[in-house]
Order: sequence, then structure tokens, then C-alpha cells
Amino acid sequence: MLNPENTRQDDLRSGHSPWLAGPPRPASAGLDADIRCDVVIVGGGITGALAAEHLTALGHDVVVVDREREGFGSTAASTAMLQWEIDLPLRRLAALYGFDKAADIYRRSFKAVEGLRDRIAQLELGCAFLARDTVYLAAGEVGPRELLDEAILRQKAGLPGTLLDHAALLGAFGFDRAAAIVSPGSAEADPLSLCHALLHVAAGRGARMIRDEVVSFDATAASAAVQLSGGHTIEAGHVVLATGYVMPDGVGSALHRVASSWALATLPQPPAALWPGPALVWEASEDYVYCRTTTDGRIIIGGEDEETDDPERREALAAAKTAALLGKLRALVPGAEPTLGHAWSGAFGQTVDGLPLIGRVPGRPRMLAAYGYGGNGITFSFLASRLIGALIAGADAPWFSHFAIDRPEPTRL
Ligand SMILES: Cc1cc2nc3c(=O)[nH]c(=O)nc-3n(C[C@H](O)[C@H](O)[C@H](O)COP(=O)(O)OP(=O)(O)OC[C@H]3O[C@@H](n4cnc5c(N)ncnc54)[C@H](O)[C@@H]3O)c2cc1C
Repeated sequence: MLNPENTRQDDLRSGHSPWLAGPPRPASAGLDADIRCDVVIVGGGITGALAAEHLTALGHDVVVVDREREGFGSTAASTAMLQWEIDLPLRRLAALYGFDKAADIYRRSFKAVEGLRDRIAQLELGCAFLARDTVYLAAGEVGPRELLDEAILRQKAGLPGTLLDHAALLGAFGFDRAAAIVSPGSAEADPLSLCHALLHVAAGRGARMIRDEVVSFDATAASAAVQLSGGHTIEAGHVVLATGYVMPDGVGSALHRVASSWALATLPQPPAALWPGPALVWEASEDYVYCRTTTDGRIIIGGEDEETDDPERREALAAAKTAALLGKLRALVPGAEPTLGHAWSGAFGQTVDGLPLIGRVPGRPRMLAAYGYGGNGITFSFLASRLIGALIAGADAPWFSHFAIDRPEPTRL
């Protein structure tokens, strides 16, 4: 478990992703007096930025506090495949929670990517956002039979997608795999530019950006406040926790664990080396690999997850993981040039059901958690911003409990 007191952004990611030359952030400063606001958001990564944009649009007076540079935690390490397909396939989610609930969750994930796309377009945010199909490849323990079951269930849930057999897949995309499901409705972006663009919009509406560390939280039924290491206090109607993979004491969930994941970006490829779309590609197996392209023609490939959250161990494994990813790139896309432009790694939070942790912190009704984990982290961060906006407005709905941070550990039906 990462220690919230001494885990810093450098412990969350190593190496250099292609995003690190992103646009400037809005200026942040320390406080010289106690202040009050409607909502204080702790954490200025993509999760805090999405919440800040949405809550300021709703008319709230928002303060964003980050102890380091906003966006340079996990957000800067993200490969930013903005997928509605969840890490846990629909058939496995349905085995945990029943078909109706699992289908509802998948449809909400689909709508979240749509909502993010529409918001980026409305606000004209420059973040290399591009709509993309996904190619979900048979791999390892998941063959054509399992993909057929998945495709049938998705169709029953009203989700789009087409099952391709080996010949159709090879002909359409050049991937030599037994089968794949090809689906519209996902996207890619530059996550750091998106984060900073959202913070700019929020700051333009009056959100205050504070550089300090939150060292304690106080949230009762009547009021909320955070104490800063600089000595000042921010009183608020609500506190939103968007601290990424470092969760404050008392907020953790038995469903959640932090592992590590590796990624690399090649140098720009000749256009003929890239597959049609270029779609987002990911494997259906537990031991997965995934890839996308960038607007300047690089291939990003990631995976090789390990059950460790130790930054030193992550560093020690970097060379071997990079070599393994380059090998997987050669196997998957034989026409690509396996050159190395960037290599990086990061802490990667996952839950046993593949779902985020969003909603009220148990026993502290004015403290709201926004932890969008896993390969759908950013999709879930968008969902978190809307769910939290609704909670602050006093709304409630049965589906909020799908993502509750105190939901019980699922048992197979
Ligand atoms: C290698 C890799 C690949 C990934 N690929 C994808 C992908 O393709 N698609 C996808 O959707 N997701 C992906 N993810 C996951 C996604 O990146 C994360 O879900 C997302 O970036 C989390 O953003 P965040 O804002 O919650 O956290 P962060 O970006 O880590 O931001 C949290 C912020 O909180 C601040 N903070 C923490 N504690 C305090 C405190 N006490 N006081 C003040 N500030 C504090 C930190 O300084 C930090 O800036 C990937 C992650 C990794 C590592």
C-alpha cells in the first residue's frame, strides 16, 4: 500500500512519456490566510481537473489543492486510451453482479466516453483527442469461443461491436490472431494537455489553484475542512478526494490494490507500418498488451504489469520490461519499426471488479471520493466528476452504489 505521507509524484512514475512537453498549467500559489469555498478538490491530476471543470460549470466556488505540479502524477504516465470497454469483460462482470447490473455499468462507461468527447468539443480543448475504434484481440485463455460469448452479451446490452474471425481480422487489420471484437465509441488523447486545459477552464471561471499539501481532513454531516501543511485551513461545503493512487488513511478499500505497469513509445513510424484507424488495440488475456498511436505517428505499447508498488523495483525492471514490450510489438505488428522513443512506467491501481471507487466516504458524508482506477481510469474520472456533481446537488440514484467505495467484495454468482 502506498504511504500517503511520503509517496510523491516521482514514486508514481519513472522514465519519460511523450506527454511531458504539454502546455503550461494555470499558476498556483500558497495561501496566506484561511479561506472558504463550496468545494475543495484535493489533487490536480486528470480526476481533479475533470471535477474542477464540471463543478465550476455548475456554478460552485472551487479550490484545487495539489502538493506538486498538477498533472505530473499518474496522469503524465497514462497511455490515455479512452475506452468504454472495461478491464473486466462483460461476461465476467455479469458473473459477479448479474447481467442487468453489468450491462448498466457498461452502458454508463460508453456514455462517459461520449460525454467526455462532447465536453472536449464544446470547450474546444486542444488535447489531441481523436475518436477511435477498438480491436479487442483473442489472446491467452480467451479464444474465439469466449469472444463470441462476449459479443453476444454486448449485443444483448445494446452495445456496438462486430466479431471478426481470423481471416477477416487479418484482412482488415493485419493482426494474426484467432478472432477479435471491433467496436466504435472509444478515443485517445494527450492526458497531460487535457488535464491542463481543463484546469485552465476552471481557473477562468474563478477556481483557485493552491500549491500545498493537505495533511488532515475533517468532514462531518454539517461541514468539511482540510488542513494544509503551510498551516492554513480551507473550509468547504464538500471535500473531493482526487489524490490518485495515494489514498488518505481511512479511505482505502479491500477491493483495491496498486501494481505497476510499463509502456513505451516508438519513434514516428512510416504511415504504411500502422494498422487501419489507427484503432486502439488490446488483448483479452490477463497477461495483456495494448497499443495505440500518437498524432505524430508513434506507436505506444504497454502492459507487462507486475504486482509491485515499489518504485525501486519498477526502475530495476525497466530495461527488461522495455525489451519485452518491443518483442511483443514485433510479434503483433511485424511491419512496425521497433525503435525506442520514450520508455516509462507507473503505479497502476486496480480493483477486483475492474470498477472505480466513487462516492461518499463512509461515515463522512461531505467527503467524496473520485478514484477512477485501471485501464479505464480516465473514463471513470469523467464518470466520477458527474456522479460527484450530482451528489453535491443532493441527488441520489440506485446506480451510484455500483461504484461505492464501501461496496462489498463481490462473490461469483
Ligand atoms: C502506465 C499507465 C498507463 C495507463 N493507461 C491508461 C489508459 O490507457 N487509459 C486510462 O483511462 N487510464 C490509464 N491509466 C490510468 C490513469 O492514468 C489514471 O487513472 C489517472 O491518471 C489517475 O489520475 P488522478 O488525477 O486520479 O491521479 P494523479 O494524476 O496521480 O493526480 C493525483 C494528484 O494528487 C496530488 N496529491 C496527492 N496527495 C495529496 C495531498 N495530500 N495534498 C495535495 N495534493 C495531493 C498529487 O500530487 C497528484 O498531482 C494508466 C496508468 C499508467 C500508470
